[in-house]
Amino acid sequence: MASPVPSRVPRPGYAPPSFNPNLGRTPDSLADNMQNLQINRPPGPPSSMPNLSGPRPPPPFANQPFSSSPNLTPPMASFPGPTPVSRPGPPPSGFPRAAPPPIGSPQANPSPSFASGRPSGPPFSQPQPFGLRAPPQGVFPSAPTMTGPTTQPLSDQGPMSNGPHMFTQGTLPGGPRFPSVGSNQQPPVGPPPMLSSPQAPIGQSIHPFPGTPMSSAPLGPPSQLGPPFLATSQGVQPPSATPYGSQMWQMQSRPGASLVPGTMQPPRMFGMPPPPTNQYLPLVPPLMGHMSASGTSITGQSKIDPDQIPRPNPSSSVILFETRQNNQAGYPPPATSDYIVKDTGNCSPRYMRCTINQVPCSGDLLTTSSMQLALMVQPLALPHPSEEPIQVVDFGEGGPVRCSRCKGYINPFMKFIDQGRRFICNLCGFTDETPRDYHCNLGPDGRRRDADERPELCRGTVEFVATKEYMVREPMPAVFFFIIDVSMNAIQTGATAAACSAISQAISDLPESPRTMVGIATFDSNIHFYNLKRALQQPLMLIVPDVQDVYTPLESDVIVQLAECRQHLEQLLETVPTMFQNNRVADSAFGAAIKAAFLAMKSTGGRLLVFQSVLPSVGIGALSAREAEGRTNVSAGEKEIHKLLQPADKTLKTMAIELAEYQVCVDVFITTQTYIDIASISVVPRTTGGQVYYYYPFSALSDSAKLYNDLRWNITRPQGFEAVMRIRCSQGLQVQEYSGNFCKRIPTDVDLPGIDCDKTIMVTFKHDDKFQEGSECAFQCALLYTTVYGQRRIRIHTLSLPCTTVLSNLFRSADLDTQFTCFLKQAGNEIPTTPRYQIREQITNLCINVLHSYRKFCATVSSSGQLILPEGLKLFPLYTLALVKSTGLRTDGRIDDRSYWATHVSSISTPLAVPLVHPRMMAIHSLISKEDDESLIPPTIPLSSADVTDDGIFLLENGEDCLIYVGNMVNSDILQQIFGVPSVDEIPTQFVLKQYDNKLSKKLNNLVNEIRRQRCSYLRLRLCKKGDPSGMLFLTYMIEDKTPGSLSYVEFLVLVHRQIQTKMA
Ligand SMILES: [Zn+2]
Repeated sequence: MASPVPSRVPRPGYAPPSFNPNLGRTPDSLADNMQNLQINRPPGPPSSMPNLSGPRPPPPFANQPFSSSPNLTPPMASFPGPTPVSRPGPPPSGFPRAAPPPIGSPQANPSPSFASGRPSGPPFSQPQPFGLRAPPQGVFPSAPTMTGPTTQPLSDQGPMSNGPHMFTQGTLPGGPRFPSVGSNQQPPVGPPPMLSSPQAPIGQSIHPFPGTPMSSAPLGPPSQLGPPFLATSQGVQPPSATPYGSQMWQMQSRPGASLVPGTMQPPRMFGMPPPPTNQYLPLVPPLMGHMSASGTSITGQSKIDPDQIPRPNPSSSVILFETRQNNQAGYPPPATSDYIVKDTGNCSPRYMRCTINQVPCSGDLLTTSSMQLALMVQPLALPHPSEEPIQVVDFGEGGPVRCSRCKGYINPFMKFIDQGRRFICNLCGFTDETPRDYHCNLGPDGRRRDADERPELCRGTVEFVATKEYMVREPMPAVFFFIIDVSMNAIQTGATAAACSAISQAISDLPESPRTMVGIATFDSNIHFYNLKRALQQPLMLIVPDVQDVYTPLESDVIVQLAECRQHLEQLLETVPTMFQNNRVADSAFGAAIKAAFLAMKSTGGRLLVFQSVLPSVGIGALSAREAEGRTNVSAGEKEIHKLLQPADKTLKTMAIELAEYQVCVDVFITTQTYIDIASISVVPRTTGGQVYYYYPFSALSDSAKLYNDLRWNITRPQGFEAVMRIRCSQGLQVQEYSGNFCKRIPTDVDLPGIDCDKTIMVTFKHDDKFQEGSECAFQCALLYTTVYGQRRIRIHTLSLPCTTVLSNLFRSADLDTQFTCFLKQAGNEIPTTPRYQIREQITNLCINVLHSYRKFCATVSSSGQLILPEGLKLFPLYTLALVKSTGLRTDGRIDDRSYWATHVSSISTPLAVPLVHPRMMAIHSLISKEDDESLIPPTIPLSSADVTDDGIFLLENGEDCLIYVGNMVNSDILQQIFGVPSVDEIPTQFVLKQYDNKLSKKLNNLVNEIRRQRCSYLRLRLCKKGDPSGMLFLTYMIEDKTPGSLSYVEFLVLVHRQIQTKMA
């Protein structure tokens, strides 16, 4: 599932079970992988003459008589003729082409062993030479039959549709907020669930419905696809040594992964409930001082020893986790740890994690705990490369077995009775007849005799082949449409050139499958489409001057098979920056350009990637510089500021809903140096399953590499199209709300025009009935989607958790990372509507309430002089404080930064949520102080300026940015080794990390690369010098410090303790 693009060949470096060109090879062999990169590009004669070969394909879609449009301006600009530019690159060698991925043909490769290495892709920063590509041979496939938009509503059978729908007005996505309010959904009727789990199936399934490259393959991490992050050739010098060399791979595969418990929890096996241990902090409460939950006016002293307070202490060992042991759900390892999952009945915590690993039997018990019951769902998450691939099951014409009442999918927790003739649904309790051809006798243990051979009966995650019933049209092709801002500012800052370069390089990683379609447009106050047809001498520009009532040229001219237009496209991308170099048009028709591209994509759907540099100022959805207006209107205060965090009007939202309806997913790459109104712009990606990338203040020198890597990961990461997702849960609970980047037409389903491995959706629950002690509550995620190979699939994740009436069990099984992520997302949802101080107060109170409940009902120690933290949640106060001080909630900060932050957290995954607000900091100057230290990541140090010494160099990363802080008294030898200069002043501010020929420099480069790999993100490197504004920026991340208007960590603990005491009194 490495590639978003349908391909007849596997993506390089990525290992589907049966088609891996790397099988049997040394996974880290650079040469092999360089060859693999050529796999989609057979060598061929230069074809610099665009019209010399190949039959002209039929238009892929039904023609609309566009040419009759009188408004279409005739071609205006002409391009310089094709210039064969030869770029060096490894010669494509005769590489075997693999067969197309048939469903159910080859036997699934036995899953990789736990110790297997991952095949790696090395950097391929050398783009393919122009003119080296052979024209595609053979017959062009005929156009897919499109049924077009339909008004058929979703039935209550759950996700069924992959076609556009009429949008029923009403339910718009809005995330859950802090105060949980009752929903008016009716509780399901029926008998209480009879929950009885089968024996936890352990061991290899020998019924491998063979995987296909897309969906059943091990969904490796980005590096498996080749390094996600490469330096571009644009103004950024790549390190002299390859950043993703073999060292990384040795590190990753870690043979003999050990069972090491995470050190954030007491030593235990993962999967076993931890013993109830608490952290006791002797506290002497301050005698005086007003306590404020918002933390602005605390005085008083504490006697907490700063060295004794809880801090994260991540384990560097790999943890093995079986999802069920002895027929019991295990407690997952921390989301931020390195772990390998064996699916023994429950799905991997990568796909679904619950805030509490035991479900309270009643709503009252949940309320008493003050905790929230929520799932973080990341349905396409990247598994660890050592994990078994997801198995694909084809039930044939009949489709997967489902409960006839609630439409839940067959899973390991459905109980077969009556010699297997009937089964009881673990979600709604209904008893169904077993379909005749699915019948199997029961063994002496009451399980079906074939349970261990059937993935759907022994695995928490399985993928079903969707039948026609799940389609309203043929699965859509993979369409990528790029639109680029070429207004004056974009040209002058180098943003246009950076975007063109990034696209040109990124599309070279897309295979030339007939299913891969591309299109391109540029815009300022007009929109310029380009006819990329091979038959033309050169791309033809088609101008759409009307940005109020846009139309689009003939779609078959502007969206073309990549194989047919790659050369034209590269040529065009090279020409665009110079073509517009004297552009004096400052206006930018962002909304109109999206609309026009949408009209071209309407019949297929697809991914629309927008490169925007200035505030959209003309045409549909034009915005005003309201930030400046807000600033001048001082008297209005916080209320006016709040408006700036909300969309300016409903135009873009209305448009976004229409885009979602037609399965168009929009990503916006914002390369700007000014206010651009992210609050308004972000509505489009948030509604369509896309995301915002934000480069501020944009620098062509230092940001081009990140732009390229972000784009490359965006289009090559595992992803699906035209998806619908629904969460079901056992009777007794009901879904309260979904939160994330999607469109919602009916209450039970979320529509995802695009869904990728990084996107996470939060689902909150509330009780509508009671559970029996000893029963289990199941959650089931069903994601219906189209793979990039054009297969329609239903991915099912099932998680069954024990129910409890004991409050202390809830605290014992609380999942810190998930609880915190839930807080974070709710805070993000509040940002546009609630004053910051209120959100800070709400968060602080939530933390206090949870700890108070524990103190009051579970802790055995009665001394009021002690703050008692449940072991599993001992970092809750620290993370809460970090959230209070985060970009989104702190008192200073730009409007766009806060809007971006709120947008970012709405889809963030659990593993990335914690570092976003509580970054990792490491000492760089002492990286090689320990000989023989092979670990790539050095120990983290507390986020306290007391630990940031003047003679040190420190690295801090939060998954987005990577700051390198240099003190003013650093040894000049160390400076020379890392920066190549002997003094701090000589380090250029426009900083690019280079690798020099010494151990320290190599180790630092390896460290940065490892962080980028872990985060699946090309972190933006920034240099921070002591005494400089950049140094001040660095210090804002020192969460444990006291600053004007905020508490230190110790003070915050005192505050929490005092509040608990007050509540106890
Ligand atoms: Zn059911």
